[in-house]
Parts: sequence; C-alpha cells; structure tokens
Amino acid sequence: MVKTADIVIIGGGCMGASLAFSLARRGVKHVVLLERKRLASGPTGKSLAILRQHYGVESMVFTSQRSLEIFSHFDDAVGGDTGFVRTGYVKWVAAHDRAALEANVAMQRRIGANVLLLDAADLAGICPGVQVDDVAAAAYHPDSGYADPIATTLAFARRARDFGATIVEGVTVTGLRLSAGRIAAVETSEGVIATPVVVNSAGAWGARVARMVGVELPIQTIRPQICLFKRPPALDGMHPIYSDSVTGMFYRPEQARLSFVGIDVSEGEIAKPADPDAYDESVDSGLIARLRPPMEARLPAMRWGVSRGGYAAIYDMTPDEQPIIGHIPEVEGFSCNLGWSGHGFKHCPAIGLLMAELITEGRTTGFDITAFRASRFKEGQPITERKYQGGSKEWMR
Ligand SMILES: Cc1cc2nc3c(=O)[nH]c(=O)nc-3n(C[C@H](O)[C@H](O)[C@H](O)COP(=O)(O)OP(=O)(O)OC[C@H]3O[C@@H](n4cnc5c(N)ncnc54)[C@H](O)[C@@H]3O)c2cc1C
Repeated sequence: MVKTADIVIIGGGCMGASLAFSLARRGVKHVVLLERKRLASGPTGKSLAILRQHYGVESMVFTSQRSLEIFSHFDDAVGGDTGFVRTGYVKWVAAHDRAALEANVAMQRRIGANVLLLDAADLAGICPGVQVDDVAAAAYHPDSGYADPIATTLAFARRARDFGATIVEGVTVTGLRLSAGRIAAVETSEGVIATPVVVNSAGAWGARVARMVGVELPIQTIRPQICLFKRPPALDGMHPIYSDSVTGMFYRPEQARLSFVGIDVSEGEIAKPADPDAYDESVDSGLIARLRPPMEARLPAMRWGVSRGGYAAIYDMTPDEQPIIGHIPEVEGFSCNLGWSGHGFKHCPAIGLLMAELITEGRTTGFDITAFRASRFKEGQPITERKYQGGSKEWMR
C-alpha cells in the first residue's frame, strides 16, 4: 500500500473514478482512489444510467448537457466505451403541469439542450403504443439515452491509471487524521496514508466518512425499487426512455425486448429508508402487481408483458434532492461530492472535470459551485427546482 498521496479520493463509484481520471490527466501526481469493495459495486453498479437533460434547475441542465457531449465522444474525450445507447427521452405531463414544462423547456434550450415541445398528438410517432388521453404536453430530447454504469466507471479508472493514478480496491477508509484543523492522513484497513487533501465520494456512506472529521451531512439513504419486464412482440424494438409525470413512473429500454420500470423518487411511498449495508435487495412482494394497472393503462400491449422480477438499491438523498459539492470550510483539505439523490450518474464526466478544477485551481468554470455547499440547509437556502405536480397516484395506495 502507498504511504503518501497528494490527493485521496474515498469511493470507487462513477464520481470517484471520474475525478481520479480528471485529476490525473491534469498532471496531478500521486492521486490515490480507495474503494472498500470493487469499483462500481455500490449504487453506481445498479444504476439505470439514464442520460437526461430534463431538469428544472439550470446547473443540472448545464452539467448533464456537458456530460452528454463527453458520453457521445467518450473514446476521444476519455478513452474506452461506456455502452452509450441513444434512444431519446420523453417527459410528458398533465394539463395542470403544461406551464411548468414549457418554462423548463425554455430554460433548457437557453443552456443549449436539444429539446422539442410536443403536444400529445405528436407523441404517436415517437412513443409507439403509448396511450396519451390524459397527457397535455411533452418534452422530447432526441439526443438522450442510457449508458452502462459499470463500463463507464471502469473506463474512467483504467484511464486514470494510464495517467498515473493509483486505484486500490478492497481497502476501507476507517478514519481521517487532522493536524491543526486540516487533513493530515487517511487511516485504512491496510495502513495509514499521509495526504493533505481528501475528497469524500463515498455516496450513501458519505455521511459516515464526514463524521470522521466531525462534520454532519444531512444525507438519508432510501431504497428505490426497479422492475424488469419482457415486452410482447407488439412492442418489439427499442423505445425512447419515457418519464410519465402523470403516474410517477418511468420506462427505460434494455436492449430490444426488455424494459426497466421504475417509480419517481418523489413518490415517497415506495422509497423507504434503508441501511446501505443491510437492505433487502429484492422488490417488495406485491409491487409488480401494483405497477401493472397503470403500466397497462399507459401501454395496453404490456398486458402481455412478462415480469422478469426486479431489484432494490440505495439512493443517497439530501433534503432538496440536489448534491453536496465542494470544500467543507470547517476542515481544510476536505471536500465532498455526494448526495446525488438518485440522479448522479449522468453528471459524472462533467462533475469530475469541475471537481478537478476546484481542487487544483480553487474555482470552477460555468457552474455555480457555491449553490451546492453543504451549509445551504442550515442557512435555509436549499436549491429549488421547478417540478411537476403529477397526477393522483391512486394506484400506489
Ligand atoms: C436503481 C438506481 C437507478 C439509478 N438511475 C439513474 C439514472 O437513470 N440516471 C442517473 O443519472 N443516475 C441514476 N442513479 C443514481 C446514480 O447511479 C448515482 O447517483 C451515482 O451512481 C452515485 O455515484 P457515486 O460515485 O457518488 O456513489 P456510489 O456509487 O455510491 O459509490 C460510492 C462508493 O464508495 C465506497 N465506499 C463507501 N465507504 C467507503 C469507505 N469507508 N472506504 C472506501 N470506500 C468506501 C462504496 O463501496 C461505493 O462503491 C440511479 C441509482 C440507482 C441506485
């Protein structure tokens, strides 16, 4: 094990690996990433990895857009393959949410996203077999799609190694040492590493890591559930990613005949608090049966869709569902990038670049990092996103 480092990154999910790559490529020497299990073995490895640009807050559109450009040319920009599949992404809303959708689309266009505003009637050609009687309007992002989260993380890590970073799996950070109020060393299951800089990229375990230096972060871990269905022949072929704000459900294709079906995190009934080290990884009994009626109302041919089970995972939630990014002023040399609240994967290329900029130059370009400071919650200044009210969600009860 190395004994010294210029920077230690804790956590080998997509965010830690992306940062290790960006730092090493900038020429930072002695970058060490420590992962307690295997790279992408946490929530990253279970991610649906949808690359959408549809947000109601500008900074997230900015980083998802910048990241999409990198995903689109990953082999040139980073090196390797992320398994990116361009499917398009459609967000549809009921009449009472039309004004919010229009405002979000206008904002997304200002930031450079390629997005079209559609009426329900326009959806037939884009969303085969979708029933749109209760839909008033939709936003269509033709450039969106999904990637392979494990391939992406491994590609960042491999390229980080190529540029000289040390990536260590199977080593747990057990403590952080301070000297005169600043980071001095990292204690691990394999010994101590002296370092002046630590980046906490430990996701759902990040609040525990922060507590090692006496910092409390408002992260709650919850248990989202994802179901998988085999589509019938009538729905053969890839479909765009559908985000149905009327029912609070979303659909993401997995190759030609399978679709993942999930529930928006704001539908709190389904997302129960959970211990990231001891949670039930299977779907709740009855959930698949409860999903069927709204799914079949939306996609009538799914009456013949076959359940292929599902799984549960972990989101690291903050109170405003936006991440905590940047230096922690109470502890010199200590930064965080976590609390991505179930939507972090798509941002990892751009956030790695921005974090590397922040650490090496003390500033970021084009992105208001201060809005994401950990202290915003205590200060009563959470980030506000323009969201949709959605429909009645009777089906969930
Ligand atoms: C089911 C599901 C679906 C999702 N779908 C999408 C989506 O469609 N689009 C999207 O953009 N995002 C999505 N997300 C969210 C996205 O995957 C996450 O926000 C992102 O992967 C978080 O990455 P991370 O690197 O911050 O954290 P993590 O993946 O949680 O990685 C943290 C790592 O830190 C390690 N670690 C923890 N403690 C220590 C320690 N003490 N020492 C050493 N290592 C430690 C852990 O083992 C873990 O590997 C989804 C997430 C889930 C679970």
